[in-house]
Amino acid sequence: MDRMDLTPSMAQAADTGSGRAEPRRAAREPVWPDASDLVYDEAVKARVDHLYAKVKDVVTPMEWPKFAPIIDAILRLKEERGATILAHNYMTPEIFNCVGDITGDSLKLAQVAAEAEEDIIVQAGVHFMAETAKILSPEKTVLIPDMEAGCSLASSITGADVQRIKAAYPDYPVVTYVNTSAEVKAYSDICCTSSNAVQVVEAIAAQWDTDTVIMIPDEYLARNVAAQTDIKILTWKGACEVHEQFTPEDIDALREAHPDAVILTHPECPPEVMARADFAGSTGAMASYVSEKSPKKAILITECSMSDNVAVENPQTTFVKPCNLCPHMKRITLTGIYEALRDLKHEVEVDPVIAEKARASLQAMLDLPKAKTPPHFDTGRDVIDVPYVAV
Ligand code: SF4
Repeated sequence: MDRMDLTPSMAQAADTGSGRAEPRRAAREPVWPDASDLVYDEAVKARVDHLYAKVKDVVTPMEWPKFAPIIDAILRLKEERGATILAHNYMTPEIFNCVGDITGDSLKLAQVAAEAEEDIIVQAGVHFMAETAKILSPEKTVLIPDMEAGCSLASSITGADVQRIKAAYPDYPVVTYVNTSAEVKAYSDICCTSSNAVQVVEAIAAQWDTDTVIMIPDEYLARNVAAQTDIKILTWKGACEVHEQFTPEDIDALREAHPDAVILTHPECPPEVMARADFAGSTGAMASYVSEKSPKKAILITECSMSDNVAVENPQTTFVKPCNLCPHMKRITLTGIYEALRDLKHEVEVDPVIAEKARASLQAMLDLPKAKTPPHFDTGRDVIDVPYVAV
């Protein structure tokens, strides 16, 4: 092949002899324009307008001409770079439905990404999710469109905190929610998700032959799990800033205004909220419930974009949307994804020693038998309190 036949990225790869585009050269020789200079022309329309049919109920006709050229550029760049995009359920609908290759909750994203052929992963989600992807795919390049996309749960606890807990309670296993940093996972005994939390708590208690487990850092998830099991739980004072805002009064008001709607809550909500719902489970469990039961009207007590994304797949259901926005998730935009891919920037690294230990905690969870359908919480249980660890 003559050098003139090479695309810009291929030429860069040939220059380095690496077989892969180099971020440094991509930044020095930008081939793709600024996102604001991308135009919605006939060629773009021909390539991506079919995607609008999917999101027409949740993306307005005024918004689409702004989104379409960036979506088009992302899809073409993704091919050129050999990248796969992971899109969390809380991404806005144009990201989730139009550029996400793998969609779902954080763990599903990381697990499926580990099996993907592509060498570059773009995490359309928050930082701990990108870290989890890197932990499970250490040989891949993991990019996040915004390094500042954090999480109130992940920032509520540090690895040093977990070390202090372990020193104070050597006889109790530490179960750590995946919404934590790599370091926190590394010092824990096993991870859990909002989907398998009850199962993990019971399994690790049996393995350690103990009736008490430490579950960190989400106090509401810990209280909701404690209501579902006989295992005693100690917890940490952390919370999701999105789900903790919902109150029992909110649910009562929604019930009164929409008596025909089924109310679904996430287990990061306070137990008093969950106790008033018809169904409680992870984002995956909520989506499965709506697909399987096809309720006429549903109210998802969770992050705003979740309803929009579930609505795309379930046009038979009307959604009431009393949602709260996650400011961290909303840092991820089409423009950010485009720029991360264009410049191969914002690479997430995890210290290899920490990554190996964190992988062991994740693997301990993954080694447990898998449920056929995402388990859900029994909302009819009594609300109970659990103590915090004393460290
Ligand atoms: S929704 Fe809650 S748990 Fe999820 S990233 Fe935002 S703050 Fe963290």
